[in-house]
Amino acid sequence: MSDTSLRLVWVYPDLLSTYGDQGNALVVERRAQQRHIPVTRIDVRSDQPIPTSGDIYLIGGGEDRPQRLAAERLRRDGGLNRAVGNGAIVFSVCAGYQILGTEFINDLGRPEPGLGILDVRSVRNEGSRHVGDIMGDIDERLGLPPLTGFENHQGNTVVGPGARPFARLRFGSGNGTGDGTEGAWCDTVFGTYAHGPVMARNPLIADMLLKLALDVHALPPVDEQWYEALRAERIAAATQASA
Ligand code: GLN
Repeated sequence: MSDTSLRLVWVYPDLLSTYGDQGNALVVERRAQQRHIPVTRIDVRSDQPIPTSGDIYLIGGGEDRPQRLAAERLRRDGGLNRAVGNGAIVFSVCAGYQILGTEFINDLGRPEPGLGILDVRSVRNEGSRHVGDIMGDIDERLGLPPLTGFENHQGNTVVGPGARPFARLRFGSGNGTGDGTEGAWCDTVFGTYAHGPVMARNPLIADMLLKLALDVHALPPVDEQWYEALRAERIAAATQASA
């Protein structure tokens, strides 16, 4: 392992990796390799300590019970909070997003403390589950093309004053609060309800994480043909389904 290698940490693949979210780690890795950026992928199971020296942390979605177990272990471990305190980049999806917040409702129907890394709080949506394709315009400060993804969650998430919505929805439920917002972000910490996996459908998000980690404004271009074809196909199918 080279000291200059970018350290990509995939948090708790044994508990939080639904709907192909592991693909996010593969895409970040691949986009780095295509630019000859050395990257070391570190998969951290829930019985292992979270390394605090990672550059990028990815945390995926999960069913309600694994989500509670993951939150308990991450709180006890404290490593992810320390890493963020050191300026690490975190990208989280669905259950992972809820865990980064201050609180969510667990599988026992009780409020479960989150990590307080992102100023969001999740409650249980009493209506039907949010399932389906979503599309939205990502916060313009981030300079990214529209977000496309697939959501499947019962929780609704309220974004507090310490964070900003990640995207404004064209369709889908996103945060589920009826205000058209989807996900949240603050500095180098991001959360979304978009599975897909989201990096495969939105590879420029992976590039954004790499640019933040390397502290550069641009990366060498890569062949986008495959990604563009997938994006076009998913956007067309989702737009048709939502019409
Ligand atoms: N268990 C959470 C919810 O239903 C997250 C689900 C998920 O990660 N897909 O809101």
